[in-house]
Amino acid sequence: MDNTQRLIELFKEFPGIGPRQAKRFVYFLLKKNQGYSGELSRLISEIHSTVHECNTCFRFFPNTNSKTCPTCLDKNRDSKSMMIVSNDVDFENIEKTKFYNGYYFVLGGTVPILEKNPEKRIRQKELLEATERRTANGLVEIIIALNYNPEGENTLSYLKEILSPSTEKYSIKISTLGRGLSTGTELEYSDSETIKNALKNRQ
Ligand SMILES: [Zn+2]
Repeated sequence: MDNTQRLIELFKEFPGIGPRQAKRFVYFLLKKNQGYSGELSRLISEIHSTVHECNTCFRFFPNTNSKTCPTCLDKNRDSKSMMIVSNDVDFENIEKTKFYNGYYFVLGGTVPILEKNPEKRIRQKELLEATERRTANGLVEIIIALNYNPEGENTLSYLKEILSPSTEKYSIKISTLGRGLSTGTELEYSDSETIKNALKNRQ
């Protein structure tokens, strides 16, 4: 396999990228100057050493001396609530609204319908540990902020089920985003105002 073919194969693994788009990426790179591809390949090769996964909420953040991200370290945040989001992009979109001031947990995926091993799709063990830990710090509400589509709904009911021993034991309220979001809505593509309303009207 030659280099361009191999690059196409690698781009095809990106989320939402098919063979045609992968090919277009490669030809785009060939047309750009060397400086562009040089910077791109340098940033890619350094990504694992310059970005870390937070040991508390599991989002990625620029490397500092700490293993915990600035959001989790922020003592001015409201320890009464923890919001579960599926990925880093959703975390960023919700932060952008500046409406929510609690802590987060990044699930790292969702549970497809009829999935036989849901615990392998999400950070289940870590979530249960985070819930226990946050309970000791006054947690009273878990907000589950997932996409309003069948997979999101399936993940929501699975989360309610696995969290129920803790939520019942400590009387933690579980809330979900209000239906300011319409069916099929993905948080990733929602604007700040829509997310803010969905948060305000959480139920
Ligand atoms: Zn964090």
